[in-house]
Amino acid sequence: MLKNKKVFILGMARSGFEAAKLIARDNKVLITDMKEQDKKQINILSDLGVKFVLSDNPVDLLDNSYDLVIKNPGIKYDHPTVVKARNLGIKVINEVELAYEYLDKGVKVIGVTGSNGKTTTVTLIYNILKTDGKPVWLGGNIGTPLCNFVKDIKKNDILVMEISDHQLCDMYDFKTNVSVLTNIYEVHTDFHDSHERYVKTKLKIFNNHTKDDIAIINYDNKEAVNNTKDINSTKYYFSKENQQNVYLNNNVIYYKGKKIIDIDEIMLKGEHNLENIMAAISVVKLFNVSDSSIVKVLKTFGGVEHRIEYVRTIKGVSYYNDAKATNCESTKTALKSFKEPILLILGGLDRGHSFEELNEEMVNVKEVACYGETKMRIKEYCDTINKPCEVFDNLEQATRYLIKRAKKGDIVLLSPACASWDQYEKFEDRGDEFKGIINSIKE
Ligand code: ADP
Repeated sequence: MLKNKKVFILGMARSGFEAAKLIARDNKVLITDMKEQDKKQINILSDLGVKFVLSDNPVDLLDNSYDLVIKNPGIKYDHPTVVKARNLGIKVINEVELAYEYLDKGVKVIGVTGSNGKTTTVTLIYNILKTDGKPVWLGGNIGTPLCNFVKDIKKNDILVMEISDHQLCDMYDFKTNVSVLTNIYEVHTDFHDSHERYVKTKLKIFNNHTKDDIAIINYDNKEAVNNTKDINSTKYYFSKENQQNVYLNNNVIYYKGKKIIDIDEIMLKGEHNLENIMAAISVVKLFNVSDSSIVKVLKTFGGVEHRIEYVRTIKGVSYYNDAKATNCESTKTALKSFKEPILLILGGLDRGHSFEELNEEMVNVKEVACYGETKMRIKEYCDTINKPCEVFDNLEQATRYLIKRAKKGDIVLLSPACASWDQYEKFEDRGDEFKGIINSIKE
């Protein structure tokens, strides 16, 4: 625990705010951000003795009188203030690493990282443990920052953490009992500057592991397997192709050779989600949950919000919200998830990206409704592949059009393949709008 230290918090957001609140009473804290912050929050901090400084040049505020820098995970390692801290010999950590100092070391920690599937996997793990009656908490890159509730977590409770690669950058003492690596893919590595650096960062999820700690690894992802050869953990694999600890065979998921569930009974759509499900089963089985708790969740859990999320079925038409799909890769994944004919909503911010990447998966799409900055380019694209496409100014018009067009047995899917910032502040807003329209339909 931190006492009588001078702490510099770089970047406020929710995590900086919660970090400051946690340590304010026992330490001298300065928090800085380049953007104006919520007045109420600043007042709360000020009452606790925390000084907030609005600055777009925070580097000048830092000097060698500080003992510690806590930085927002979104700030890069080569930010001038971070570089200066290192040069001054001041340790730089993030909010999760700070929270870990306050965590009872009798708590069992499960950490999940990977290029894709983190949120879905942690949510499945959390829901299954909860359904089984275990004392479980969910935190990390999902929901409320850990600093907010870390002191409430008791010995022998279970903490499930989604850990992004940004967070892993500034972790040192943080240690899990069980770590999951869902997969490693080539992603935009602007933040890490190279794929090697990105992979090295991901592997920090196994930091401080001994053979008493468990690593759960996707056997079908070569990069994940090859890069974890030398870790100290005891390794368990899951696989769609090979009889590992958890595996898929003839449409049935098995754990150590025993049937858990037929995949036709699983509510969650998409083949990629089978990997997330197998990862989750691998973890919960370490905590002695019953098969019936696993099956109950898998039969009823319709997906994480905005990720191929089931909304509703009206007159035989099922509606799905995949507002998180901000690029063609994600929209392809969504299209692959359905056998039924799809009426697809595309559109949003124009980054100049091409839609040809969707070609192969467009076979099941009956028609498209598009909107936003990219609408004319989407229309041109659909013309080239002879797909019916109507152009609209906004999501509401596009959605209402497809509601009218859909026939029994069809899927109406919002999976826009574009970022949302041309018309929305964040992708969640367009998903909420879509769901609002669907939920207001009278049967
Ligand atoms: P993350 O938290 O890692 O961003 P999510 O669970 O939120 O992952 O899923 C986001 C998107 O990533 C999904 O909508 C889907 O397109 C894709 N995805 C999820 N799981 C996987 C997986 N196991 N393999 C490949 N792609 C996946």
